[in-house]
Amino acid sequence: MKITDLRAYAYRIPKSEAASSVGAPSTDSPSHGSAADRPPVDDFGDYFIDQSAFTSIYSHHHESTVVRLETDTCIVGWGEAQSPVAPRVTRTIFEELVKPLVIGRDPFDIEAIWTRAYGAMRERGHPTGFYIDALAGMDVALYDICGKATGKPAHKLAGGRYRDRILLYAGMGGTDPKLVADEAEYHVGHGYKALKLHLLVDRDGVADIAAAVRERVGPSIKLMADVHMRQTVSSSIELGRKLEALDFTWLESPIDPSDIAGQAEIARALDMAVAIGEWSRTRYEMREAFERRAYDIVMHDIGRTGITEGHRIATLADTYNIPVAPHVGGGGILAVAATVEFSASCPNFMIMEHSHDANAMKASILKEPYEPKDGYFHVTDTPGLGVEVDEEKLQEFSFPR
Ligand SMILES: [Mg+2]
Repeated sequence: MKITDLRAYAYRIPKSEAASSVGAPSTDSPSHGSAADRPPVDDFGDYFIDQSAFTSIYSHHHESTVVRLETDTCIVGWGEAQSPVAPRVTRTIFEELVKPLVIGRDPFDIEAIWTRAYGAMRERGHPTGFYIDALAGMDVALYDICGKATGKPAHKLAGGRYRDRILLYAGMGGTDPKLVADEAEYHVGHGYKALKLHLLVDRDGVADIAAAVRERVGPSIKLMADVHMRQTVSSSIELGRKLEALDFTWLESPIDPSDIAGQAEIARALDMAVAIGEWSRTRYEMREAFERRAYDIVMHDIGRTGITEGHRIATLADTYNIPVAPHVGGGGILAVAATVEFSASCPNFMIMEHSHDANAMKASILKEPYEPKDGYFHVTDTPGLGVEVDEEKLQEFSFPR
């Protein structure tokens, strides 16, 4: 069997479509609470950025890039390279670089294809970023093909099934303690047993919101706080102690992650776990942080690592007794499905991120719905990724060529 065709689609599900289909904002923005409860932003039309800190640029829409690989036996596999902004950049990388590297290859050479393709751009200084995202999409599409060729779900080819259901946490955000508590209660009402608060406010603001949410949801719900690199080492430790008193499970992204020594100092000072890693795509980027104990929980994103490198990172983490909580964020529905397959086959899996209100909108490029129930994705025996793309729908949302 050989790969004979590659097509890449950069797509955008517009804000209006997203809002009408789910009644909620669709972006991966951390401030996706009610419209009135967001920090001020610089708005560029389709994209925007928070005014109060050096933080990520976000889209008002849902955007990503998917790749369709086809074999000489007419099997079609789909994968996603998470592209929360500028998905046409990723599409070009697929067409100009990934295509020549994958055409003619046997799809069962999954690791060999990734390793060769990674090496193809390493010496040129592209060991991460958009190029590695495209390799992640390619890798997931190869798993989809191999699963369909063998009649097995992707997780059976990626190490086997460790669990039958995937525990999720729902993300939410805001600046007003009462409104964030309302959102928390809404998600608990939908069956979630774990919630993560994206809090783009100062240390005391985080502590106030955290206290309001804990009071509202009670002691049995698992709570986490993501502060998006806005704290200093000392404020992170002070904040962490307040969150420990509220029985929070982890403090996420406290400071600039390139300060590994500072990160390790926070992790050492706190009893609670420190979780980071969504921006890292390879084990090479993770190694020093693991060695220096800068992470208690690693949260790489399968839409950026693929299943192959995602497992390599998880295995390396496991040798340091570090559990895995995969990030999904702005990932589309194929990234969600790939993360479910990864999580089913990951021994040190802990919990997976999920965007409850955006899921139906993301799944609008599929033939059948794909959604969790009562706070879990249930692992199935459907071959490959377990989802099938509706190409007409996808083309409807795709950027023209
Ligand atoms: Mg995060």
